[in-house]
Amino acid sequence: MKLIILGAPGSGKGTTATVLREKYSLAHISTGDIFRANIKNGTPLGVEAKSYIDKGALVPDSVTIRMVEDRLSQDDTKNGYILDGFPRTLAQAQALDEILAKSGSSIDAVLSIVVDDEIIKDRVSSRRVCEKCGASYNVRFKPTKVEGVCDECGGKVVQRADDTAETVAARLETYYKNTKPLIDFYEKRGLIVEGNNDKSSEDCLKQIEEGLKSKGLI
Ligand code: ADP
Ligand code: ZN
Repeated sequence: MKLIILGAPGSGKGTTATVLREKYSLAHISTGDIFRANIKNGTPLGVEAKSYIDKGALVPDSVTIRMVEDRLSQDDTKNGYILDGFPRTLAQAQALDEILAKSGSSIDAVLSIVVDDEIIKDRVSSRRVCEKCGASYNVRFKPTKVEGVCDECGGKVVQRADDTAETVAARLETYYKNTKPLIDFYEKRGLIVEGNNDKSSEDCLKQIEEGLKSKGLI
């Protein structure tokens, strides 16, 4: 099963993708996580990406597309994958079609996570993530058992540098301008499966699994 997960920043894409990854043995490809790992390791890609990420802007398509094409060529993607945070522009979506066409494959479904904007702003500022495994927490709604320590792997749990109020506003704007049109793009192909994450991530997951079932994918 080859999936894309779309949603505004802080909508819960990562949380949903992590559950699906475990349950259906999919490779989880998060472009945000790949960029953050490169930033942490001080690679040239990381240095370039940081200048955009800190402003809430998108990393240029050429850089991002090359990185994803390389990732999709790795062996762990053979049993299916979930693309989290990619594509984010129409040009990226078209490039993805071309990359997949080379191996005669295509995307099976596009999960659209819907959350009210006010809820997003509220959630992102209290979000924390594990530096090591990427697990997501929230100091108000889903705290770690021990402060600053990941329940899953014992890694350090921190606030992302781009989870400040100003950057979130810029990221939401970028989302509406560049990424939201992709919902139409995939809707026309009948690929969209929607989950509403205003309330609980369990509800959201349930809606998504029902959608995947009705498409005969699970
Ligand atoms: P969120 O969805 O919460 O904003 P991500 O971890 O997916 O977080 O992305 C963080 C940042 O990384 C984005 O704001 C953007 O700057 C950059 N980024 C991630 N994926 C892409 C992409 N496909 N194209 C361009 N930039 C990207
Ligand atoms: Zn962890």
